[in-house]
Amino acid sequence: MRLSRYFLPVLKENPSEAQIVSHRLMLRAGMIKQQSAGIYSWLPLGFRVLRKLENIVHEEQIRAGHIPMLMPTLQSADLWRESGRYDDYGEEMLRITDRHNRDMLFGPTNEEMITDIFRSHVGSYKDLPMTLYHIQWKFRDEIRPRFGVMRGREFLMKDGYNFDLTKEDALHAYNRHLVSYLRTYERMGLQAIPMRADGGPIGGDYTHEFLVLAETGESEVFYDSAVTDLTFGDRDIDYDDVAQCQSILEEFTTKYARTDETHDAALFAEIPQDRQRTARGIEVGQIFYFGTKYSEPMGATVQGPDGKPTPVHMGSHGIGVSRLIGAIIEASHDDNGIIWPEGVTPFHVGIVNLKQGDTEADAACEALYNSFTALGLDPLYDDRKERAGGKFATMDLIGLPWRITVGPRGLKNGVVELTCRRTGTSQELPPEQAIEKVAQIYAPHRVHGL
Ligand code: ATP
Ligand code: MG
Repeated sequence: MRLSRYFLPVLKENPSEAQIVSHRLMLRAGMIKQQSAGIYSWLPLGFRVLRKLENIVHEEQIRAGHIPMLMPTLQSADLWRESGRYDDYGEEMLRITDRHNRDMLFGPTNEEMITDIFRSHVGSYKDLPMTLYHIQWKFRDEIRPRFGVMRGREFLMKDGYNFDLTKEDALHAYNRHLVSYLRTYERMGLQAIPMRADGGPIGGDYTHEFLVLAETGESEVFYDSAVTDLTFGDRDIDYDDVAQCQSILEEFTTKYARTDETHDAALFAEIPQDRQRTARGIEVGQIFYFGTKYSEPMGATVQGPDGKPTPVHMGSHGIGVSRLIGAIIEASHDDNGIIWPEGVTPFHVGIVNLKQGDTEADAACEALYNSFTALGLDPLYDDRKERAGGKFATMDLIGLPWRITVGPRGLKNGVVELTCRRTGTSQELPPEQAIEKVAQIYAPHRVHGL
């Protein structure tokens, strides 16, 4: 992308409505625009990051054997009357009446709808196990939308639902989700710690929330500092291997880590004192097993091996895709702007031309641009006739992890400058070597199509 042809409405001033750094930086970097309380347009830069996160989520879900689909945002109230949640859900549910006076709602989640799909089409235990998921906009009429996309009213969520014959199978699905979520967050450059949580309105005894530690987080959390040493890394996973998934769950959930809802002061006190931590966290996902809570009232049964109709065991599993962008920025920024982890950056590399209009500088930038594009990488080339200082400030603000600076002086010596956004360190290299280096850095971070 050439900046002269892009739409990147960066703000020079700090917007007064933003209370936390991620919200401030998303507005300043021209990623989002508020349309009404808790409802945002995703401007091109923000949209690119959102798509990156979606792609990572899809890749990891598909890797785990889960099946993508898409359900609508608007739902019929009748389905929710079947489960009893139409009355229980309260004011967070946005209720709408259509022209025929039918009660509709903007979906805050999809347990009822997916259960309806399942009962309409699946009849035998032989079709199980099955996990269906989608990434779709949700609406919850939050009493206090705030912090930008962190607590929106409209927000993007990945929600997946497993259907299994037995509790044992459903708990394997639970473990599979935990493992796939650990991988997902790590690819996004985040540490999200699974913590024992409370069922809330979705219900259920088995549930973990994934929390990113951050001062601005809305949840109070208590944990053994040893959990922050755990990393998923590059392990081979066989998602059909029940024992392997179970052992990873144990590895990541045995040490004390709980939200305030399930905190147990006596157990916490058993952790060696120098490892006891109280902090704040951002909830970026949650997994549940809830048995037959929906399948029973809604008649989602399969014919079991004994020929009898059996209600299926279910769970639901959510990732806050749009909230994650806020969480990533809270975890990764400095005074000059955002610092994107390589896995989610909207563009892989920025190209800054110090002297636009200079024949050699222009030609060198074009050549870099074309080489990166040919390698399947996305460069953002600042080809505007602006002062160098302004170009650097924009690049720092929007947070591309790598920048190549091209100027007539360097070119005389056959070099360009490669700068790392995170460390601020630069090195002078011949253009081919700079390209090679950037290509190597991104080799493990390619997100493939579906
Ligand atoms: P919270 O406790 O923050 O209100 P929740 O527990 O009600 O969230 P879930 O039903 O578990 O939310 O939804 C799955 C994920 O969707 C959450 O982990 C969170 O990351 C995201 N999410 C929930 N509500 C919002 C919101 N209002 N804005 C943005 N993301 C949200
Ligand atoms: Mg939750």
